[in-house]
Formats: sequence, structure tokens, C-alpha cells
Amino acid sequence: MMTTDTPRGTHTPGPRETDTNNIVYAAADSRMIVDCSDMGSGELDSERRTANARLIAAAPDLLAELIALEWSPDQVDVEAGGYEAGCPSCDGSQREGHNTGCRLRAAIGAATRGQS
Ligand SMILES: [Zn+2]
Repeated sequence: MMTTDTPRGTHTPGPRETDTNNIVYAAADSRMIVDCSDMGSGELDSERRTANARLIAAAPDLLAELIALEWSPDQVDVEAGGYEAGCPSCDGSQREGHNTGCRLRAAIGAATRGQS
């Protein structure tokens, strides 16, 4: 089954910043996006909290790169000769869509639609 749908989410755009308490903020207006501290619970160690905050802060850039890669130019062989835009993960052509089980489409879908 081929799929071409890729709805885009409406997340707070990057860039984002983190502080020493592992709070993630929008760099543009300093609004808090998420608090990755454990608020004293002790459930997560400091390294894990910092890693979580960094990943969330980088998420808009990561998503933008995935979307930019989704239909890479000259990715797929065309039977008649030459290449056309396609997905580097599943080798589906942009014209026909992703192949079933495409992990790139699943990752973009998880970030934009909450499903893979
Ligand atoms: Zn794909």
C-alpha cells in the first residue's frame, strides 16, 4: 500500500533552549514548552533529565530534517531510466508514495499526528 499523506503538526517552532533545571523554552519568546526536571521526586537521574530536555529541545530541528529528507531528489530509479524524488527510507517514489512500513513516514507521522 502506498501512502502520500503527511499532515503537519502545529508544535511550537524552534529554536528551543534548555536551562540548568532541564526546562525547555521557546527561544523566541522564552515560553516554557516542557519541564524535564523531576520536581524532587528522584525518579530520574540528572543525566536522564538532561538528555530528555536536549532531545525535546532538538525536536523541531529533527522533524524539519526528516521532512526535508522525505522526498529527496534523484532518490529512486525510474524504469525508463534516470531518477526521481523518493523516500530514502523505503525507496518509494514521491509520485507513488511511501511503501508500507516506511519508518521515515512513521517517524514524521508520530511527530505530527501522534501515530506511526
Ligand atoms: Zn518512505
